[in-house]
Amino acid sequence: MLSKTLVSELNEQIKHEFYSAYYYLSMAAWCETEHLSGASNFFKLQAREECGHAMKFYAYISDQGGQVELKAIEAPKRDFKSLLETFELSLEHEKFVTKRIYGLMDLAHQEKEYATISFLRLLVDEQVEEESSMDKMVKKLKLVGKDGAGLLFIDGQLGQRAASED
Ligand code: MG
Repeated sequence: MLSKTLVSELNEQIKHEFYSAYYYLSMAAWCETEHLSGASNFFKLQAREECGHAMKFYAYISDQGGQVELKAIEAPKRDFKSLLETFELSLEHEKFVTKRIYGLMDLAHQEKEYATISFLRLLVDEQVEEESSMDKMVKKLKLVGKDGAGLLFIDGQLGQRAASED
């Protein structure tokens, strides 16, 4: 049985994962208005992945006999200056999520909650991938700068992202 504190912190993480989905969906919506359909596709798939993360926490709490508690999700930012800004903010956001998961891991260690440590390890690994993919995009977008052809090329690449299996 998980401690009350751990259940509460895991529930808090469900909110952050759904907020991530909201945030990326808002970026997708902005990209549509800028006719960046590839980037929009990328962010919509990212949003779907975040819902998947939230559901992993949901399933874990539930499997451990805890009660899932859904908290209010605040409205995300809706206007962005550039595609570069969306990816810079995405990277910043993923770093924040990584810190939160590290906090959960600290708590699980304090409580010697080995099952939770094992569960969280998979999410720590995913964060490495998330940060790396956002960081690569920031670097590419900085390379092309304001060059329209370069931007369209990147948008085309982002459009090729396919849905992952989970
Ligand atoms: Mg996530």
